[in-house]
Amino acid sequence: MIHYQLRCAAGHEFDGWFKNSDGFEAQAASGLVACPSCGSTHVERALMTPGIPRKARMPVPAPAPEPASLPAAGGLMPDAVRAALQKLREEVEKNCDYVGADFAEEARRIHHGETMPRGIYGESTDEETEALAEEGISFARIPWAPRNDS
Ligand SMILES: [Zn+2]
Repeated sequence: MIHYQLRCAAGHEFDGWFKNSDGFEAQAASGLVACPSCGSTHVERALMTPGIPRKARMPVPAPAPEPASLPAAGGLMPDAVRAALQKLREEVEKNCDYVGADFAEEARRIHHGETMPRGIYGESTDEETEALAEEGISFARIPWAPRNDS
C-alpha cells in the first residue's frame, strides 16, 4: 500500500491509500478518487512536505517594527503570543533608544564606533536592512505588538 497526500482542484487536501502508484493514476483517471470536502474528482498528488512560511521571523530584540508582517495578525493572534510580544516591546522601549527612521544610519554609526554603543530601535526599509546585513551589522526584526492600553 502506498500513502498519498492529495489535493483537489479547489485546494482541499486529504489523503488516500492506494495499491501502488499506478493504482492511484488509474483510479484518478476513472474519476474514482473524489475530494471528501467537495466531491471533485479533479485530484492530484500534493507535495508531502508542509510549506514553510517565507517570512517567518524570530522575535529577537531590536528594530524595524513591522506590524503588517505578522502572520494571522487579523485579530487572531493568540493572547499568549500577543502578551509575549507586548512584553518584548516593553523591554525594547525600556532599554533601547528610539531612533525612528534613522535606524540604519544610527546602527551603522554604532557599528563603526562613531557614537555611544547602545541598544536602539526604529524603523528601516527593506533596502536599508539588506545593506546592514551585508555590512555585517547585527540587528533583528520583531513583530511590533500593539500596546496593552491601545
Ligand atoms: Zn475539494
